[in-house]
Amino acid sequence: AQIFSVNMDDIESPFEIMARANEQLVQMTMKAQVDTTQAFARQAVIEEQKNKLESENKQLQSKAIHDPLTKTYNRSYFNENFEKELYACARAAQPIGIIFSDIDRFKVLNDTYGHQFGDLVLQRVAKVASEATRRSDVFCRYGGEEFVIMVNNPSENGIRDLAERLRKLIENEVIEFEGNRVPVTASLGAVVGIPPRDLTGFAERLVAEADEAMYESKENGRNQVHVRSIISKEDQELHKQIKRCRFSRWLVTKEVFDIPTISKALLKCPKQQNQTRMGELAIAEKLLSENDVSQILELQQLKGLRFGEIAIQQKFLTEEQTAYLLALQVEPPIVLGKTLISLELLESSQAAELIRQYLAEMKPCSISADERRNLLANS
Ligand code: GH3
Ligand code: MG
Ligand code: MG
Repeated sequence: AQIFSVNMDDIESPFEIMARANEQLVQMTMKAQVDTTQAFARQAVIEEQKNKLESENKQLQSKAIHDPLTKTYNRSYFNENFEKELYACARAAQPIGIIFSDIDRFKVLNDTYGHQFGDLVLQRVAKVASEATRRSDVFCRYGGEEFVIMVNNPSENGIRDLAERLRKLIENEVIEFEGNRVPVTASLGAVVGIPPRDLTGFAERLVAEADEAMYESKENGRNQVHVRSIISKEDQELHKQIKRCRFSRWLVTKEVFDIPTISKALLKCPKQQNQTRMGELAIAEKLLSENDVSQILELQQLKGLRFGEIAIQQKFLTEEQTAYLLALQVEPPIVLGKTLISLELLESSQAAELIRQYLAEMKPCSISADERRNLLANS
């Protein structure tokens, strides 16, 4: 006290100072605890709000793409997916199909039995038809009493069978009004096509063709199916060749698996997000040089055709080679091989050996620069 010139009478006893310090410490701790508890409470409120918004958002999204009456997808969902699918099919030269279905004399049903009964008919038809389509196909209510189905990778016969199956299911569905069965039928029209590289107007064309095919069914007496194909002869031929080249087909011809087993495995294959580009595949398979690929890509910019179309036209690839590459693109053997392993249908060493054999057997020889010159001169 002397050194610092402090009057000792002004200073409380050390015990009192200690007691006060402790008291302050307790208060500080309590305040910190209250702050933390409040922060937790605020966080919980925010979390709850976030969950609520997320679930509302999901509901809104679902509402935006579903039809409230039939619970099937609506037209805007169809349009959005149709465009995506067309783009994917154009790249892989794969067919796409749509089926239009329109309930026959629906206005009469409404007028005779009332609007509510009409609504019931729509629900029942939507249920029976959507349950009969595959998961890879998209079933939508297109408007009023019209439904549309986007069919994945169909053949003309395949889409006819599906449409016919749907027609029968609708015809056989027992729908009653006050205990009496009311017959309900639909007229269907279907179309298959392979989208060109330049998609302008193609979606509209497919829809118009399916619509016209449906009207043919109406004009011919209703409760029937009409199918059209707008696949060109060359595309049809190429598509047949692609099918022949596919690993799944090879496995069947080699009697490694039967068709039902391989079809099941194909359905289980993960859908490819990013297909390998044709140019990259051709280089990897040593069928084209990097220089060839850049020439083709340049021409593609100019002409707006598919890679394969240009490659064939300009004799960079034969049809056989193009088909082989497209088959690898749509059905990479590794992907199918892995699926067969995961389904315990193959051991991994067997799968590797089969893929090796398949590639060795199916891969066509490459064209030399000299041959290409001769081919171009001759054509
Ligand atoms: P067609 O065999 O030529 O197709 O004859 P249709 O009577 O089925 O064809 P039309 O297009 O003349 O009639 C369709 C009717 O569908 C008219 C419309 O009132 C009715 N409709 C449209 N949407 C609904 C709906 O959501 N519920 C009900 N109950 N009726 C609907
Ligand atoms: Mg109609
Ligand atoms: Mg109708």
